Amino acid sequence: MNLIRFIDVVEDMATNGYTCEDAIDGLKKLLSEKGELQAVAAAKIKELTAELEAAGGDEFNPVERIKDGFARFKKEKYETNPALYGELAKGQSPKFLVFACSDSRVCPSHILDFQPGEAFVVRNIANMVPPYDTVKHSGVGAAVEYAVVHLKVENIVVIGHSCCGGIKGLMSLPEDGTTATDFIEQWVKIGLSAKSKVQTDCTDLDFLDQCTNCEKEAVNVSLANLLTYPFVKEAVVKKELSLRGGHYDFVRGGFSLWNLDFGITSALF
Ligand SMILES: [Zn+2]
Repeated sequence: MNLIRFIDVVEDMATNGYTCEDAIDGLKKLLSEKGELQAVAAAKIKELTAELEAAGGDEFNPVERIKDGFARFKKEKYETNPALYGELAKGQSPKFLVFACSDSRVCPSHILDFQPGEAFVVRNIANMVPPYDTVKHSGVGAAVEYAVVHLKVENIVVIGHSCCGGIKGLMSLPEDGTTATDFIEQWVKIGLSAKSKVQTDCTDLDFLDQCTNCEKEAVNVSLANLLTYPFVKEAVVKKELSLRGGHYDFVRGGFSLWNLDFGITSALF
């Protein structure tokens, strides 16, 4: 197919349901295959890119989304609360250190309505706290140390959630120890003892219900792991710090909260 014919085809694609990006990708592919046509194809790419930018509206524009989001926040929140933001400019004194999953549906500031300055937050796959280790997972260790030793938070809450992909991954780990990912499986293995407990205690449940149980048991493993950090243990013993587990169920719209003693759920909202 010569280039002009190809351009006709991609223009047809662009006007009949295919996106301009598809057309541009097609042209770029052709460009890499037929070096001698570079000038013509490059001009066409430029034209299609301009068309794409002009069309704007329907296409998701990440830069515009970020600009709009910040403008909205600044107008509706920052500028309407100068007292709060004036205080925060001087420093932070959060009451909470929160562990939450990186899952886009479970932002703790949204679901618990934390205001800026209220919660120091660590988010990772399956909201895990690894055991104290100054070499492995030191990013988490640094956050715990900073929050507990320097900010002197009074509460740590580890929040699991419904339909957690990380926990499903943990529950699906092959028994033979083989791995198919660079990081994920190794990371979620932090919760292996939770998986074992669920597999022993919940043999009558189907896989998805076992996962739900594991979402909560993995929180308990993280709470126990927190006590392996000497400064956490010391603050808990002195009653300067409380540890709690939580589980956010976004399917049913519920939140449960329990204390470190791993007793039955003390509050269900
Ligand atoms: Zn998750």
